Amino acid sequence: MDDGFYRKVLDSIDDGVYFVDRNRRILYWNRGAEQLSGYCADEVVGHLCSDNLLRHIDEEGRRLCRDGCPLAATISDGQPRRANVIMHHKEGHLVPVCVRVTPIRDQSGDIIGAVEVFSDNSHQKAVQVEIERLRELTLLDPLTGIGNRRFVETATLSRLEELRRYGWSFGVILLDIDHFKAVNDMFGHLVGDDVLRMVARTLAHNVRAFDSVGRWGGEEFAIVVRNAGTEALMNLAERLRMLVEQASLSVANEIVRVTVSLGATVACLNDTLSSVFERADQMLYFSKHHGRNRVSIELETAASC
Ligand code: GH3
Ligand code: MG
Ligand code: MG
Repeated sequence: MDDGFYRKVLDSIDDGVYFVDRNRRILYWNRGAEQLSGYCADEVVGHLCSDNLLRHIDEEGRRLCRDGCPLAATISDGQPRRANVIMHHKEGHLVPVCVRVTPIRDQSGDIIGAVEVFSDNSHQKAVQVEIERLRELTLLDPLTGIGNRRFVETATLSRLEELRRYGWSFGVILLDIDHFKAVNDMFGHLVGDDVLRMVARTLAHNVRAFDSVGRWGGEEFAIVVRNAGTEALMNLAERLRMLVEQASLSVANEIVRVTVSLGATVACLNDTLSSVFERADQMLYFSKHHGRNRVSIELETAASC
């Protein structure tokens, strides 16, 4: 079989597949990789993957390119690897992916490079189905492609009902982009819109399939977190804060980044739609007034209910 045949086979699969040589120079990039990362083959083939392209980070936000790259480790010790990492999409948002790396050897057994296969680790398919469903129900925010305020409110009312009937706990998180007006002033409204999409997608890709993310209004977002006590809520809010801080958008020669302030609270039996969001809003206000780029949570025991 000729080379073209194998390329066709590789291009027909959904997973991202790429080859690098010993210096981690990208030699091949399949269609799946184009779709998952947003980068087409022309933009990456010939470049080093440590050249600020995908900028993988781990769950704690550590950058893996220089220190901790699974490709580099496999090229060095010949061991196949599997890792869950977070990849920068070309549009700036962060997508969790599962990577599998295998060494490639020449006929004499020397390592000449490695192949990485990566797949979307978020509930991407479920997100697509959800988007269609929301569009039909007019619960979609057209700018960001995630749920709108009414979607979040509807989800919250369902969770309140479940809390009363079955005692299933849940929490809400309100999130507001810090100094967003300055982004609009500095880069223009269209870039501001791109930043809103970047934040929205980072949130949507990094919550669990059964949590509900929506745009609350302007540069504010809300997340309804199922089956969560204070600790789980705090962990998720902190993870989302860290991920948004790491997301970035290239505009001409500049990198645009934003941070977010978050307020979170666990719902209690007496809560209504407005009381639970009022508490989250007070916590958000607290984060804003204590330096921004932080999470504040009202402890369950202290909740006024
Ligand atoms: P803070 O850290 O206190 O939240 O400061 P801020 O600048 O983010 O807050 P402020 O409320 O002063 O400004 C919010 C800005 O968000 C002003 C408004 O023009 C902008 N904004 C709201 N909706 C959109 C939108 O759909 N697109 C764009 N580009 N900007 C928007
Ligand atoms: Mg605001
Ligand atoms: Mg703001």
